[in-house]
Amino acid sequence: MLTIEDVDFSLCLDEKTQAVRIRAKNTVWESRADFLPYLETDEGRIPFQDAESIRSECFTNGLGKGIRCTFENFRAGGALFDYEFETIWFLEKTTGDLYAEWVPLREPAGSQVTPGDKALRVRKVFFPAPFDFTGGTPVRSAADPADPSRLWYTLLTQRQGMMIPNGWDTELGPLCFDGQYLSAGAYMPWFSQIREGHGYIAISLTPWDGGVHAAHRAGENGTTVGQWLIPSLGTMRYRRVLRYSFRDGCDHNTMAKIYRRYVDQSGRLVTLREKEARHPEIRKLIACCFVHTGIKTVVQKDSRFFDPEAPEKNNHLATFASKEVLVKKLHDAGSGPLYLHLDGWAEPGYDNEHPDYFPVCRAAGGSAGIRHLEETLHAYGDLFGIHDQYRDYYRRAESFDPRWAVQNEDGSNPGHANWAGGPQSYLCATQAPGYVRRNFTRLMADGIHPDCAYLDVFTCNEADECFNPEHRMSRRQCLEYRGKCFSYCLSEGIVPSSEEVSDWAVPMLVFCHYAPFEFMMNPPGTPKEGIPVPLFNLVYHDCLIEPWMMDKVSSGEDYMLYALLCGGAPYLLREPAYPGIDGAFAGSGVSLEEQVKRCRAVSELYGRIAESEMVSHTFEGGSFGRQKVVYQNGTSVVVDFTVSQYYIQ
Ligand SMILES: [Zn+2]
Repeated sequence: MLTIEDVDFSLCLDEKTQAVRIRAKNTVWESRADFLPYLETDEGRIPFQDAESIRSECFTNGLGKGIRCTFENFRAGGALFDYEFETIWFLEKTTGDLYAEWVPLREPAGSQVTPGDKALRVRKVFFPAPFDFTGGTPVRSAADPADPSRLWYTLLTQRQGMMIPNGWDTELGPLCFDGQYLSAGAYMPWFSQIREGHGYIAISLTPWDGGVHAAHRAGENGTTVGQWLIPSLGTMRYRRVLRYSFRDGCDHNTMAKIYRRYVDQSGRLVTLREKEARHPEIRKLIACCFVHTGIKTVVQKDSRFFDPEAPEKNNHLATFASKEVLVKKLHDAGSGPLYLHLDGWAEPGYDNEHPDYFPVCRAAGGSAGIRHLEETLHAYGDLFGIHDQYRDYYRRAESFDPRWAVQNEDGSNPGHANWAGGPQSYLCATQAPGYVRRNFTRLMADGIHPDCAYLDVFTCNEADECFNPEHRMSRRQCLEYRGKCFSYCLSEGIVPSSEEVSDWAVPMLVFCHYAPFEFMMNPPGTPKEGIPVPLFNLVYHDCLIEPWMMDKVSSGEDYMLYALLCGGAPYLLREPAYPGIDGAFAGSGVSLEEQVKRCRAVSELYGRIAESEMVSHTFEGGSFGRQKVVYQNGTSVVVDFTVSQYYIQ
C-alpha cells in the first residue's frame, strides 16, 4: 500500500490491484472491490495484477506528488508476452486535482506484427476502476421527492445529459456508440457522481480513443461508472489522462461549470457572440423557426429500407415550387422568419450516391428551381440550408473507389446497406474536405449559394480511424478533418451545422439538427433511464444554436417544455427522412395555428437568451417535476412537467 497525502486529501493505492481509497476532506471514495483494472486482449481478460513484474515508486516534482507503478510482461495461455505499461496517480498541489494516467511503455507495433508472432494484442483497457457507489435514500422515479442535498446520483453525458439517482427503477440500457467519448454516447468526455452534496467529476483530457461504461439495474441502490480505452491505429500508443476534481457542497451545476472552465482554459470555448463577430448572419438564424423538409426520396432495392411488397412506398418527389407554397403557408400562419433545411435536393435523391450529390434534382425544377426557392425565402427574410453528407460513401457513387474508403486493420472496408442509397462504406475523412470544396464550388458556379449547410453524422457518430498507408488517419485526426469541413463552409459565408453536437466541434460548429435528451430517441412512453438534465447546455448553451423537437407526443409529455427549459430554437415542421427512427415518431395532432403560436413563444424566449450562459438548472419545491433554469442575463424559466406549465421571468 502506497500513500500520497496533502492537507484535506489522501490517496492509498494498492499498487498490484490498483484499488484506491481516496479521502477528499471528509468523504471517502473507494474502488469497487469486485472490479480490478484489466486488459482485454486476444488471449482473454488479463488483470493488471497478473503482470510478471510490478514495480512502484513515489515521486515529487514541481507540480505535486505522485505514485508510478510499472507492469511488465504477462503470462496467458501458457505463453509469456512482452508488454509493459505504467499507471501514474498524481496529486496536483495548485488545484487539488487527482490525475489517473495509463501510459504504454513497450508494446508490439500493432498491424506491423506478422501473423503467427506471439505478441500481446490489447483491444481495450479498463482503467481506473469505478468507485463503489452503493447507498443513500433510494429514488425510484421522478414522482419521488427531490432533495438534492440527500441524493446519491450519477451524471452521464449521453446526448444532452442524464442523472441516474440511486434506486432508479429503470435499467440503464447500452449507451449509444458504447459510450465512446465525442459521440452521441458522450457529447462531452466526462462523468460524475455525487452523494449528499459530496462529489467528483472525472474528465478525460485525452478523449479521442476511449469512452464511458456504466451499469445500473432496475431499482439498484447504486450505479457503476468507469472508463475504457482503446488502441489508436493498432496500439495504445500514447499517454491517457483522466482528471478527478473533488468537491463538497456540490451538485450537477458545479460539475458542468468545472468542465466549462476546463474547456475555456483549453482555448476551446468559442461563444456564439464570438462567432457572430465574423458571421453576422448567425444573429438571423437565432430568430428563426426551423423547418425540415425534403424533395426526392429513392430507396434502392438493396437498402435495408426497401420494401419488396410495396416497392414505391418510399419513393416520392416534391418540387422546389411546392416548397415555396409551403413557405408562404407558414408565413401566412404567422411563423415569422424561417430556416428551411432541405433534404433530397439533388440526384439521385436523399441519402444516395454521396459524395457525388449532383446535379440539382431536375424533375423538381433543377438549378433554376432551387435558386427561385432561395430567392423566395430571402424575400421573406428566411434562411436556406441544404442537407449534405461526407462520411457515408455509396458504392453507386461515380467516384466510389475502395481505395479512398476507410480501411480496417485487416485491409477490409467497413460496409452496410442501412440507408436509402444501399451498399456503402465510409469515406476516409482525409478525403472529405476535398469533396466539400468541390461540391460547394460547383454549386456556387451554378448560382446557388446556400446560407447554411448540414454535414450529416459528423457530430453524432464516432470518429473513424483508417489503416490505409496512403491516408492513414487516427480518430483524433479524423475529427480535425471533419472540423476542416465546417471551417471551409464558414470561410465561404455558409453557416455549418451537423446532426448533433459534440465537444470537439464547438469551436467551428454553429448549429445542429438537434441536441436531444436520450429518452426522446425512444418511442413515447418508454420509461426514462434517468432524469434528463441539460448538462451539455450548462456548459455550451451560449456557444451553439440547438433546434428542439416541439412534438406533443402524449397528453402527459410535451417536448415544447424541454425546448423552453433548455433554451433553444423551435422546430415548426420536421418531416422525418426515415419514419420511426432518430426520434421521428408521429405526434398527437396540433393544428398549424397552435404550433405556430407554440414556436413563437419558444423563439421569442430564445432571442433573449441565445447568447447568454445557462448559469444553473435546479429542481424546485422538492420535486423533480418542477425545474428552473437561470441565464446569465437574469432571465429565468420554470417548467412544471407535472401540469405542463411554464413561467418565464
Ligand atoms: Zn484513410
